[in-house]
Amino acid sequence: MVVFFPGSFDPFTIGHAEIVERVLRFADKVVIGIGRNDAKNALYPVERRLDAISKYYSTNSRVEVVAYNGLTADAVRSCGADVILRGVRKFSDYEYEQSLSDINRELEGVETILLSASPSKQYISSSLVREMKRFGKPIDGLVIETFK
Ligand code: ADP
Repeated sequence: MVVFFPGSFDPFTIGHAEIVERVLRFADKVVIGIGRNDAKNALYPVERRLDAISKYYSTNSRVEVVAYNGLTADAVRSCGADVILRGVRKFSDYEYEQSLSDINRELEGVETILLSASPSKQYISSSLVREMKRFGKPIDGLVIETFK
């Protein structure tokens, strides 16, 4: 089974990395898809994200990293994946993730696997990291090493 893990990953945190590591216990391959979303005010340009995440997984042949335009439902098929993967940190994430999974099932008949964050990673989000970075705080330990 090939899973497509879409997101902004601005930046890719150790919470994201843990979700990838856990899904590889039962999936054959993960394609990490960085959505190109012009509406979002990004901290790291998409190419920088692509580069950092690709470097981090360069020795793992079961992880591929791509950037994509347009709808996630279309990207899943074009990269040969079977299912979408998303993470859920807390209950408030769940409602949003449920709507997304409903849309993707309706549009393309693609199912979504939701993995819940482990307790030690629940508080970590890209937006928290961006906020810390903006105020000059160290982000080591929250993001994958290739982002430092
Ligand atoms: P998006 O902008 O699409 O929400 P993100 O890059 O913020 O993308 O997150 C991608 C996915 O990873 C989302 O499903 C999000 O809920 C999940 N995620 C984010 N942080 C964590 C974490 N600490 N643990 C588990 N899942 C997470």
